Amino acid sequence: MAKKLYIETVGCQMNVLDSELVVGSLRRQGYELIHEATEADVILFNTCSVRQHAEDKIYSALGRLRRHKQRHPSKIVGVLGCMAQKDQELVRRRAPHVDIVCGTGQLARLPELIAEVERTGRPQLALSLDRNEASRPEVERSFESYDPLRDPSMRPSPFQAYVRIMIGCDKFCTYCIVPSVRGPEQSRPSEHIAAEVRQLAAEGCKEITLLGQTVNSYKFDRGDGRPERLSGLLARVHDTTGIERIKFITNFPRDMSDDLLDAVRELPKVCPYLHVPVQSGCNEVLRRMKRLYTVEYYREMLERCRERVPGVAISSDFIVGFCGETEASFQRSCDLVATAGFKNSFIFKYSPRPGTKGDELYADDVPEEIKKRRNNDLLAIQNKVSLADHLRLVGQTVQVLVEGPSKTAQKHDAGAGPRQLTGRTRTDHIVVLEGNPRLLGQTVDVLIEEATAFTLFGMVATGEHVGIGADAHAEEESCTIIETQGSPRLSLPVI
Ligand code: SAM
Ligand code: SF4
Repeated sequence: MAKKLYIETVGCQMNVLDSELVVGSLRRQGYELIHEATEADVILFNTCSVRQHAEDKIYSALGRLRRHKQRHPSKIVGVLGCMAQKDQELVRRRAPHVDIVCGTGQLARLPELIAEVERTGRPQLALSLDRNEASRPEVERSFESYDPLRDPSMRPSPFQAYVRIMIGCDKFCTYCIVPSVRGPEQSRPSEHIAAEVRQLAAEGCKEITLLGQTVNSYKFDRGDGRPERLSGLLARVHDTTGIERIKFITNFPRDMSDDLLDAVRELPKVCPYLHVPVQSGCNEVLRRMKRLYTVEYYREMLERCRERVPGVAISSDFIVGFCGETEASFQRSCDLVATAGFKNSFIFKYSPRPGTKGDELYADDVPEEIKKRRNNDLLAIQNKVSLADHLRLVGQTVQVLVEGPSKTAQKHDAGAGPRQLTGRTRTDHIVVLEGNPRLLGQTVDVLIEEATAFTLFGMVATGEHVGIGADAHAEEESCTIIETQGSPRLSLPVI
């Protein structure tokens, strides 16, 4: 009988990709993926350390499993990813029933670690070196990019895939744990990436999203003195037959070069969408965050993006309540959101991370309730801006890659007939439409009829018109909806 595998994933797209690859490699070993932890032989948690809340979630899930593991000692519990690399032995001190602690740079070893626990019954730790523990090349080698062969059955959607183009980060923003837990910045060879994209296309994938913590810092040394940059990589993968859309996340403002923007404009498959987190609208806060730019620079960069890529949609990230953020500095973030025209923003309350410079140098001096209020206030401003951006699209026809049933449709199975579907435009706007499930994976023209701050609603431009039910829920972006106070849904007459 096939062994059963359960995996829970928290965190960013990098983690989603890591989990997909882990599941794929264990499937090849005969494991079957199931959705009930207590039924599984191997229970894995792929973890995030960016905020305390993400860690707390995992420790309480591990706590809930303690009794189960006592009753079934042969079941294997593993903690993977960022929290494993950050907490190391502490994971087992807090949750002694954990069998495997495996860092982000060691995931390739997971099948071997599981086999070792089965053979010896002893816990296994697989971790990369700390960044100050050895020379850079040694630390780099200990963080291995995990990119085994792709397998379409591993992906939640066969026509969309993430492709890692780099690992790690060298920016060391003072609030951020990523450079410690994901190691030094290393770009994958462009030929390997191109080969992976060809393979994905051959498997029926239509949209790829290139991933990197600072994806526009991509730089691969080909040995001929002319390193490949992201603009060159985009050109290289652009002509892959079958690929229709290319996206890339996340961009670092300082590395937004003109050659990259020109590539986005000139290469038709590259989507005019840029996620470029700013984090704060206040220069003093940006300095303490060590973001290496000023608000003035960021505004100029936005202008440059819009000049060079007409119609580009830009989204951002903000941290509220960072150490020393006064009401006046917060107000500057509000001013930036009110005027920058972001499609959407992900807004986070500052969470001090032990091991970062921010935690070492500055007091976490903004009380929780003030962080919460600032989060809500900034979100309310962003929601107004997003609604205005969405209303601009009402009456226009946009191209939507249909991704799956909407959240409403997932709750109420409508059988074989038309149902509520969701997809995204080339500018990453979320669209809900009604249509036949056979539209999944198709790019269709959709006439936008209604809009909320989070979602556009429309009908397939070439098909018959089917009205959208009044209970349609916004397909809200996971981070954007935190602490939202209601989304104004604007109804327009349906013709
Ligand atoms: N590499 C990306 C960049 O530089 O924009 C983002 C990486 S991080 C995983 C995603 C977002 O989490 C950041 O943009 C930041 O807004 C937020 N973040 C990182 N550390 C945080 C912390 N200590 N507290 C709250 N939010 C944090
Ligand atoms: Fe973290 Fe800054 Fe690197 Fe992004 S650029 S991963 S926020 S250190």
